[in-house]
Amino acid sequence: MKFDKILEYQKLDSELFKIERQLNEGANKKMVGELHSNMKNAQERSVKLEEKAKDLLAEIDKVKKQCKIQEEKLNEFLSMDIENMNKNDLEKLENFKDKLNQNLTILEKHLTSLAESMNAVLADFNKTIKIFNNARDEYTKRKNAYEADLSKVEKSKEEINKKLDQLSSSIDSEIMDAYKKKRGEKVFPVLVPLKGKFCGGCNTELPLATLTNLNEHGIITCEHCRRLVYNTQQ
Ligand SMILES: [Zn+2]
Repeated sequence: MKFDKILEYQKLDSELFKIERQLNEGANKKMVGELHSNMKNAQERSVKLEEKAKDLLAEIDKVKKQCKIQEEKLNEFLSMDIENMNKNDLEKLENFKDKLNQNLTILEKHLTSLAESMNAVLADFNKTIKIFNNARDEYTKRKNAYEADLSKVEKSKEEINKKLDQLSSSIDSEIMDAYKKKRGEKVFPVLVPLKGKFCGGCNTELPLATLTNLNEHGIITCEHCRRLVYNTQQ
C-alpha cells in the first residue's frame, strides 16, 4: 500500500507523542507554569504596593507640614501680650485659637488614618514578599524535577527521532511535509483511514466532492478535524 511507510512512521511517532504528552501533562510541568505565574502576580502586586506606600508617605509629609504651620500660628498667639488687649480683640484671639485647635485635631485624625493605611500596606507587602519567596522556592524545586523528567526520557526520544529520520528518507516528501506540519500543530494521529464515507479521526461524514477528491489523490484533509484522511484501497 502507498501509505505503508508513513503509517509505520506514525506508529513510531506515537511513542514520541506519548512521551511528550506525559511530560506536558505531568504534575511538574503544570506546577512550573502555575508557580511562575504566581511569582509574576506577587511581583506585580509588590510594585503596586510600593507605589501606594510612596503616595502615602508624600501625603503624610504634606499633613505634617500643615500641622506644623498650625502649631506655629498657635504658638505665636500664645506668646502675645494679652494684658494690653481690649475685650473685643481678646475674643477674636480666643476664636482664632479655637479654630487653630480644631484644624490641628482634624489634621491629627487624618495623620492617624494615613498611618493605619501605611501599616496595612506594609503588612500586605510583607505577605506578598512571603508568597513570592515561597513560590520561587517551590518553582525551583519543580523546575529541577521537570528537568529530571526530561533527562529521563531524553535517550528514548533520541533513539526514536533517529529511527524516524531514517524512515522519513523513504517517504514521499509531499506527504512527509504535510505530516510534519500537522504534527507541529499537535494534531495526533495525523493520518487516519477512511471508514466507509466517514473520517476515521472524527467520524464526520465526508462530502461527496471530498470523497471524489480522495479517490483521485488517495489522501485529503478532513475539514472538520484537520487530519489527513487516506484511502485504504490505495
Ligand atoms: Zn475528521
